Amino acid sequence: MLFGEVDVEEEWLKGGVEELDVHGGLDLEDREGSRGSFPRRREALYFCLPFRGHLLEYFSSNKNLDEEDNLLTCLADLFNQINSSKKKTGVIAPKRFVQRVKKQNEVFRSYMHQDAHEFLNFLLNELVDILEKEAKTGNGSPETISQSEKNVNGPVHVQENGAEKEPLITWVHKSFQGILTNETRCLRCETVTARDETFFDLSIDIEQNSSITSCLKNFSSTETLNAEDKFFCDKCCSLQEAQKRMKIKKPPSILVIHLKRFKFIEQLGRYKKLSYRVVFPLELKLRNTVENLDTEYSLFAVVVHVGSGPNHGHYISLVKSHDHWFIFDDENVDMMDESNLQTYFGSAQEYPNNTDHGYILFYENLCARN
Ligand SMILES: [Zn+2]
Repeated sequence: MLFGEVDVEEEWLKGGVEELDVHGGLDLEDREGSRGSFPRRREALYFCLPFRGHLLEYFSSNKNLDEEDNLLTCLADLFNQINSSKKKTGVIAPKRFVQRVKKQNEVFRSYMHQDAHEFLNFLLNELVDILEKEAKTGNGSPETISQSEKNVNGPVHVQENGAEKEPLITWVHKSFQGILTNETRCLRCETVTARDETFFDLSIDIEQNSSITSCLKNFSSTETLNAEDKFFCDKCCSLQEAQKRMKIKKPPSILVIHLKRFKFIEQLGRYKKLSYRVVFPLELKLRNTVENLDTEYSLFAVVVHVGSGPNHGHYISLVKSHDHWFIFDDENVDMMDESNLQTYFGSAQEYPNNTDHGYILFYENLCARN
């Protein structure tokens, strides 16, 4: 159960297939020297419709370029293979993509726990780097460097020499990027200082018997900076007590929520998996936005961590396509009843029988879709 296949039925995507007629074959060639499971992430990405569309477009506009492989070309090639597969059944081994990932990043060759969340961040950042390089050398498709979309969003990055660099908004940004704002209010002069930062996902602390909504509320709760931890107020020109809170300034079109299930326990000197029960809703209202406007999201994919600890485990993906939920477990794909999602919320007991826990949630912005 190491490296997953991308098991996708093109027919499901187009809809209309009654019978699930799937799969076989496991690519074992990349097994050597690996421990843990390779993140089951690509299914979830494949089902991100805007992301897939951009990637396929990228593939068709670049397929004649005989360039060196990079992660983006490998991923685009993989998505294209899935998309153009005429076969009703079958598995496409992501060998080229997996080899490229390993070549690129030592961490994913030898790391003890190949964490799906780190992998997602690594992948998205790599794709952005590649697109930015291409835009610089003029290789990019017009889509990636559309003039009108420059400077619309995001803080301006200041380069080391002090020059302002215009942020390039790639389709990776358009799909996943949101903006958080850190507001700090000096308790002496009441001045509010706001600092923006961009994100591709929100990593949230979790509590036993809670919900995503309450965890998000804690994420945006007000924190007092005092004692050792005072804030330097520019207006008072001194360290002052202050109140700090984090709000969402621009909700992303795809909201990725990472539940911090792996916690370093000092007494144990190692990470422990928190199996806490955290309810995730099908429809999520994001309330902690700057303008206090509710943004509505709909759940379309869940990456589940299976296992009792951080160093051994396995990932499966739950994906919604054409109003049906599917469960992807390496070469096996099954249809799943929506009500079964609750078995992945976590456990209210300390030593659970069930070790399958929702770990990364993918929500689609309903306003952006309409
Ligand atoms: Zn002040």
